[in-house]
Amino acid sequence: MAKPKIAFFEFTSCEGCQLTVVDSLQDHPELLDAVEIVQFREAMSEKGEDYQIAFIEGSCSRPGDEAKLNEIREKADLVIALGACAHLGGVNAIRNRMPLEDVRKYVYGDKAEWYATYPARPISAVIPIDAVIPGCPIDRNEFIRAVTYLLQGRLPYIPDNPVCIECKLKGNVCVYHRGMTCLGPITLAGCDAICPTYGEGCDGCRGLISAPNIPALRTVLAEHGMNETDIEAKMTVFLTYQRMELEAADHDS
Ligand code: SF4
Ligand code: SF4
Ligand code: SF4
Repeated sequence: MAKPKIAFFEFTSCEGCQLTVVDSLQDHPELLDAVEIVQFREAMSEKGEDYQIAFIEGSCSRPGDEAKLNEIREKADLVIALGACAHLGGVNAIRNRMPLEDVRKYVYGDKAEWYATYPARPISAVIPIDAVIPGCPIDRNEFIRAVTYLLQGRLPYIPDNPVCIECKLKGNVCVYHRGMTCLGPITLAGCDAICPTYGEGCDGCRGLISAPNIPALRTVLAEHGMNETDIEAKMTVFLTYQRMELEAADHDS
């Protein structure tokens, strides 16, 4: 039986999620017997254009990205968003609340005109996608699990639970009791609460659960000593795009 052909693509990203894929495959070389990777710039120089499964890392940040994303969608049976940049717009979307001209000048100086760029979006804002593997970077075990599911003809499934569920199951002492803050109550689980487990608050890299109570969490953060500016900054790193979408929906309703 022919092996499924897989291709990896990157848009605006740091390529850390693709590096995690390389890392994962080194631990699970058996997967390389089950699939044929035809395009993966991070790991090979060949560039096949015939593929069934496309993993896309990075956000759509330039008008020119859209044609390539549409081409990938037309060729692939399944499109999977790989990591927070592709899933949420990621850290690239931090700029979405700032005047674009200021951002371009800050980054490119007097060459700002040379670079076509616009507000960063997740790839699902441009093309339909079939699944996401969240995180910044992705979790290597989750990637292996997701590929195994795909090979079985199933889509990766992520329960709509907050990180707190996994954190409690691990028996962690909540970081709020240790003078820190955490976005775990509004963030999608699946990372095994790795940050609180190692003593850090969650920054929300897996994105929001489906019904996040953001006002309640803002109150909790304020009660734990954060001012409005700091709360806003904490919720900006990974959640800007999703929060702006929620705000727009509230405005429209
Ligand atoms: S999600 Fe994080 S690790 Fe992955 S490409 Fe984006 S910035 Fe890099
Ligand atoms: S440390 Fe964070 S994830 Fe864990 S229980 Fe407390 S708020 Fe929830
Ligand atoms: S705990 Fe939060 S920030 Fe850390 S990996 Fe999980 S979702 Fe991301």
